[in-house]
Amino acid sequence: MTHAIHYGTAVFEGIRSYPRNERSVLFRLHDHIKRFFLSTKALSMKFSFTPKDLEKAILQTVRANGETDAYVRPFAFYGYGRIGPNPRGAKVHVAILVVPLKGYLGKAVIHVKTPPFRRIQAEALAQGTKISGSYFNAALSSMWAYQHGADEALMLDSEGYVAEGAAENLFLVKKGELITPKSSDILKGITRDTIMKISGDLGLSVREKRVTLRELYRADETFFTGTAVEIHSIGKINGRKIGTGKRGPVTEKIQSFYQTLVRGEIPKYRKWITPVSL
Ligand code: PMP
Repeated sequence: MTHAIHYGTAVFEGIRSYPRNERSVLFRLHDHIKRFFLSTKALSMKFSFTPKDLEKAILQTVRANGETDAYVRPFAFYGYGRIGPNPRGAKVHVAILVVPLKGYLGKAVIHVKTPPFRRIQAEALAQGTKISGSYFNAALSSMWAYQHGADEALMLDSEGYVAEGAAENLFLVKKGELITPKSSDILKGITRDTIMKISGDLGLSVREKRVTLRELYRADETFFTGTAVEIHSIGKINGRKIGTGKRGPVTEKIQSFYQTLVRGEIPKYRKWITPVSL
C-alpha cells in the first residue's frame, strides 16, 4: 500500500561526494537541496524537516558511511495510503542513502541511440523537478537503447529536436564552440549549469539552441553531463561516428577541469564545495 510504489509519488536527488585529503567533499549540495525542496513542494509533500535539517542529515549520513567516493541520494515518498492517485492522507517518509559509485556508464566512450519514445513534454510534468513517476520514460528509453546494443538513450523532445539522455544533459562541440540543446522538455541539470559557468575559464563560448539530430551527427565532439556520469564522451550516435569516434580534446579539457573543480581545488569555485570531516 506504499503510495509511491503504485503511483510514483516520490522525489529524489543525486549528489556526488569526492575524496579530498582524508575527507569527503560534496559538490553543489545547496543547489541539490534547493531542487529537492522544489520537487517535494510540487508533490505537496508535508514533513517537518527544513533545508538546513536535511543538509545536517546528509552530512551525518555521509560521515556514518565513511564512503568518500560516493553517490548520495536523499529521497522522499508517500507511504501507506489509500487506493487512487491522490496521496492525501498518506504519510511522507524521508530517507538518505549513500552508495559507492565508480564508472556509472562503464566505458570511457559510449554509444547512444535514440529510442522511439519521446522525452515526456514539459507541460506534462512539474518543471525542474525530479519526481520518480516521470522516470518510467527514462527507464523505457534506457532499456530500449541497451537492448539495441547502445550504452544509453538519447531522447528527442516532443517536437523532434535533441533533448537529453535518460538522466544526462548533452553538449556538442562545433568549431571550438560549446552548444547545448535549448528545449523546455529537459531537466536543466546542475552539471549543465556548471559547464556553462566554467566555459569562459577554459576559453570556450557556450550557446543554447535547438539542436537537430543531423547537426549532432556533424559535431566535432559530443558529451553527456550529469551528477552521476560527470562528463562523459559520446563516440557514436545511432551507429554513426561523431568526429573521430574517440574522446576529443575539448571534452578531455572539460573533464580534467571538472575533476579538480568538484574536489574544491579551484579557489574561485570553492563556494560550490561542502567538506565533510569523517
Ligand atoms: N536530465 C535528467 C532527466 C536527469 O535525471 C539528470 C540527473 N539528475 C540530468 C539531466 C542531469 O542533472 P544533474 O547535472 O543535475 O545531475
